[in-house]
Amino acid sequence: MFAAPAESTPLLPDPLDHLASVLFHEMGSPGVYGRTALYEDVVERLAALISLHREPGTEVMRFPPVMSRAQLERSGYLKSFPNLLGCVCGLHGTEAEIDAAVSRHSGDWTLSLSPGDLVLSPAACYPVYPIAASRGPVPAGGWCFDVAADCFRREPSRHLDRLQSFRMREYVCIGSSKQVSAFRERWILRAQEIARDLGLSFKVDYASDPFFGRVGQMMAVSQKQQSLKFELLVPLRSQEQPTACMSFNYHRDHFGTTWGIADASGEPAHTACVAFGMDRLAVAMFHTHGEDVTRWPAAVRELLRFSRTEKATTSAFEVL
Ligand code: 5GP
Ligand code: ZN
Repeated sequence: MFAAPAESTPLLPDPLDHLASVLFHEMGSPGVYGRTALYEDVVERLAALISLHREPGTEVMRFPPVMSRAQLERSGYLKSFPNLLGCVCGLHGTEAEIDAAVSRHSGDWTLSLSPGDLVLSPAACYPVYPIAASRGPVPAGGWCFDVAADCFRREPSRHLDRLQSFRMREYVCIGSSKQVSAFRERWILRAQEIARDLGLSFKVDYASDPFFGRVGQMMAVSQKQQSLKFELLVPLRSQEQPTACMSFNYHRDHFGTTWGIADASGEPAHTACVAFGMDRLAVAMFHTHGEDVTRWPAAVRELLRFSRTEKATTSAFEVL
C-alpha cells in the first residue's frame, strides 16, 4: 500500500492496493507514479487496440503535457474546474534576483515564483479546437481527430484509479450537431464492444463533471438533464461507486463559439469527444484478470496480441 496524501483520507484498505507494487513505483507524491514494464506494456497494447478502431479520415495529433495558459483560459476552464488546474511557474528576473531567491538564506524559494504562459493540460482535447479554428470552416463531412496527452488534475489521492498525472486518449468530432451526435452514439456502442471484448464488467450511465462551487452544482444538474455526458463505469472499488474508464462528451457549440469555428452551413460548429482513461483501463484490466498476464483469458490475450508472433505484434504499432 502506498503512503496516504497530506490531507486526511482514512487509511482503510482499498481493493486496488494489492496492485500498487506490481504496477507502480512510488515517486513521493500521491497519484504520481512511475510505471513498471508489465503495466506499460498493457497500456501500449490498449492504445494499439483503440487505434484499430480509428475511423477512416481521422487525423492523428499528439500533444505534450503542457498547453497555452491563454488558450485554456479562453476555453472557460477556470469557470468550471479552477481547483484542478496546475500552472507552470518559474523564477523570472535577473540573474541576481534568481540567485537570491534560491540561496540558502532567503527561506522559501517558491515565494519568488511567478506564473508563466503554460498550464498542465487537464484533458487531451483542449489544444485541438484552436488548431481546427485556424484552418477555416469545417468541411461538409466534418472533422475527426485522434489526440492524446499526459494530463494533470490536482486531486491527490492514494487510490490507484485517481491519479494526478494520467494518460488520456480521445477521438474528437467537429461538425454539425447531427454529425457530432451521430459520432457520439457510434462511440457509445463501439466502446461497449471494446470493454466487452476486454472482459471488463461495466455499465454506461449519465454523468456530470465535478464543476466547482455552488454555480457548478447547477451546471452539473443541467449537464445531466441534457444528457451531455455519459461514462463507461467499471466496478473497481465497489459496485456502488464504479470508476469512469471512458467518457462520451457532447459540448454542443461551446468550443465552436469560443474559437469561431463555423460548420459547413456557417453556424457555430458543434463538438464531441470520447475519452479513454488509459491508466484506468490498464488498472481495470489487472484488477479484473489478475497480475499474471499469461493467465488472462485467451480471447483477451489474442485481442491484445499477446499470443501472436513477434511480426504480428509489430503490426499493432504500425497503426499508432
Ligand atoms: P473526464 O474529462 O471525463 O473527467 O476524463 C476523461 C477520462 O480520463 C475519464 O473517463 C477517466 O478514464 C480518465 N480520468 C479522469 N480523471 C482521472 C484520474 O484522476 N485518474 C485517472 N487514472 N484517470 C482519470
Ligand atoms: Zn475531450
